[in-house]
Amino acid sequence: MRIIKPGFIIEDEINGIEVLKKIERAGRTCYKSEAKITEDSCREFVKKIIASGHHSVLEHEKVTVRVVCDRSTSHQGVRHRIATFSQESQRFCNYSKEGFGNEITFVQPDFDLEEDDIDLLRAIEAHYFKKIAQGKKPQQARYFLPNGTKTEFVVSMNLRSWRHFFELRTSPKADSQIQALAKGLLAEFRRLIPVIFDDITPEEPTL
Ligand SMILES: Cc1cc2nc3c(=O)[nH]c(=O)nc-3n(C[C@H](O)[C@H](O)[C@H](O)COP(=O)(O)OP(=O)(O)OC[C@H]3O[C@@H](n4cnc5c(N)ncnc54)[C@H](O)[C@@H]3O)c2cc1C
Repeated sequence: MRIIKPGFIIEDEINGIEVLKKIERAGRTCYKSEAKITEDSCREFVKKIIASGHHSVLEHEKVTVRVVCDRSTSHQGVRHRIATFSQESQRFCNYSKEGFGNEITFVQPDFDLEEDDIDLLRAIEAHYFKKIAQGKKPQQARYFLPNGTKTEFVVSMNLRSWRHFFELRTSPKADSQIQALAKGLLAEFRRLIPVIFDDITPEEPTL
């Protein structure tokens, strides 16, 4: 049994200014104002597009992210429909195999696990392996796996959808683990892409 920390990797190489320039080129088509494009006009143009609510223009660019988290966090993530997901399958992955280190991986929650918690996870792992040894398929043995089981998914969303995801999931109303993921991602997106996420400022928790 292994317990790991959650995390993410942005899979694209992002040139933030090029992202803004592409959105500007698309957006200016609406107003036929391409003649106003200069070396640094994209920042101001995209800022105005966002302020005016003309957010469909942001859909011309997408970002792909790989997330490692527990199954309860991933279950919330995959509710976002304007997105594409590819997720580790508990139907096809047999955790008793060598490729998985002959063990089940769980994700560290945002509280300390105590000795009896670890005992329970060990017992679940032993039960899963017993069922596999008895001839059950991974899709049957997974019935016994808890929400804390590690999963991995790749998600691609356009920038409008990412804005929506951040607005919902960085809120103090969101579950603490997806909130931590969303806040980490938002900080990284803001570092890589100017302007587009600047107006999304997560509130501090009030409780
Ligand atoms: C704090 C919080 C608590 C939550 N609690 C629960 C819960 O208890 N139970 C639960 O089941 N879910 C819960 N959710 C999940 C929530 O209901 C949404 O499924 C999830 O946040 C995805 O949001 P979305 O539908 O806006 O995003 P997306 O699916 O990405 O959709 C983006 C936008 O596209 C539009 N859209 C998409 N599909 C349609 C459609 N069919 N018709 C019309 N417009 C559409 C909407 O404007 C939508 O906001 C919770 C979410 C949050 C943030």
